[in-house]
Amino acid sequence: MANYDDEMSGYYDKLLRRNAGEPEFHQAVAEVLDSLKIVLQKDPHYNDYGLIERLCEPERQIIFRVPWVTDSGEVRVNRGFRVQFNSALGPYKGGLRFHPSVNLGIIKFLGFEQIFKNSLTGLPIGGGKGGSDFDPKGKSEQEIMRFCQSFMTELHRHIGEYRDVPAGDIGVGGREVGYLFGQYRRLSNEHESGVLTGKGLTWGGSLVRTEATGYGVVYITNEAMKHNGDSFDGAKVIVSGSGNVATYAIQKAQELGATVIGFSDSSGWVETPNGVNLELLREIKEVRRGRVDEYCKEAEGTFHSDGSIWDLSADVALPCATQNELDGDHAQKLVDNGVKYVAEGANMPSTADAIEVFRKSGTHFIPGKAANAGGVATSALEMQQNASRDSWSFDYTDERLKRIMENIFRNISDTAAEYDHEGDYVVGSNIAGFKKVADAMLAQGVI
Ligand code: NDP
Repeated sequence: MANYDDEMSGYYDKLLRRNAGEPEFHQAVAEVLDSLKIVLQKDPHYNDYGLIERLCEPERQIIFRVPWVTDSGEVRVNRGFRVQFNSALGPYKGGLRFHPSVNLGIIKFLGFEQIFKNSLTGLPIGGGKGGSDFDPKGKSEQEIMRFCQSFMTELHRHIGEYRDVPAGDIGVGGREVGYLFGQYRRLSNEHESGVLTGKGLTWGGSLVRTEATGYGVVYITNEAMKHNGDSFDGAKVIVSGSGNVATYAIQKAQELGATVIGFSDSSGWVETPNGVNLELLREIKEVRRGRVDEYCKEAEGTFHSDGSIWDLSADVALPCATQNELDGDHAQKLVDNGVKYVAEGANMPSTADAIEVFRKSGTHFIPGKAANAGGVATSALEMQQNASRDSWSFDYTDERLKRIMENIFRNISDTAAEYDHEGDYVVGSNIAGFKKVADAMLAQGVI
């Protein structure tokens, strides 16, 4: 049987040479190429027509200047990005991230992951991602608005309902989407609701979009648990982060009877052995825009500025903060403490070493491209509502989200088994996501 190690090493070496200094992008591609070796053993035609090289090269990369003026009259210059990675299945779709760590490599890793994630949803959306190295922390409301307006002044010419549909991500929530949409509407002189998702409910937004990623992580984990005779009821759960994804993962896990024993932000983590008072956490993070230590002054919980949230002993771990927040040592600690399920709410929160530990130990590990697909899936449902000028009820939309997450679980689980890697959801997600995009690319010719 052919061995595709050399083939994949060749692609990877070339990618390293042509995309120097982009470690997150290399990491995301390496994981997928590893799974593709397994596909090629069975289906060698996926190696034809430069398919794999084309898949790893964005269709278009846009980098632009974003000048804006502070409240005190100083001019600041940030850098904006939009990477339109692959549109074989539909318009580019993926969020915008505003965070000081943003650079081209981070946007490329996120855009690359987005291709497979969007494919897994079963909906007609391609993969893209964008953002800026702008830091919203400590900025006034007016500064945020001016920045969003300047960002959209350039971005607007590259997006559209049938071309590219951005949404939120880290640092871009409902407030920012509002300012971005307002500026788009002004520049285009059209109320093109389908151009952005995550909109407000009175102007084209969808119920459940805010909750979707967090709920989706819990729905898919619940499926995996049912598959193995377990349930959230009575389980101990760690959720890292305290932003959009974490908040609604905490809510849904607690609704299903779990106790969430810890959450975090970039200042530290909070241990909550008797569960999280979600109302208070939301008040602190969403209204006061404060730090997690404030939580412990008003509710039961211990704040830690050192050590790691992954030192806690739990049945389920849901990393929902940021990339590479969980390394090999953390993973080993979780495994030693008896973790059985890990599902990634964030994009690529586990390092390659951590994933290796989970796979070797038999932990049920669901990678982000499957586990956090509920957000983009509900964005696609928002696009459907915009196209038909309709708005669906919360329960109906939530039910559709749940079905999508159940289908994703079935798809990645069946695919892993079909390729003789039963229970390996990394392989299952990469292969199932890849095949649909690859078939479309092959059908559409060398472009
Ligand atoms: P938010 O900005 O709402 O929240 C991010 C959270 O992570 C904040 O609590 C932030 O803390 C925390 N955080 C960031 N860096 C660190 C760190 N180094 N250590 C600990 N905590 C940290 O973003 P989202 O919740 O929207 O996104 C979280 C993750 O989920 C990202 O990886 C994103 O790409 C992914 N994702 C999001 C989707 C969505 O629909 N929003 C969809 C799919 C994936 P602080 O406030 O201190 O910065």
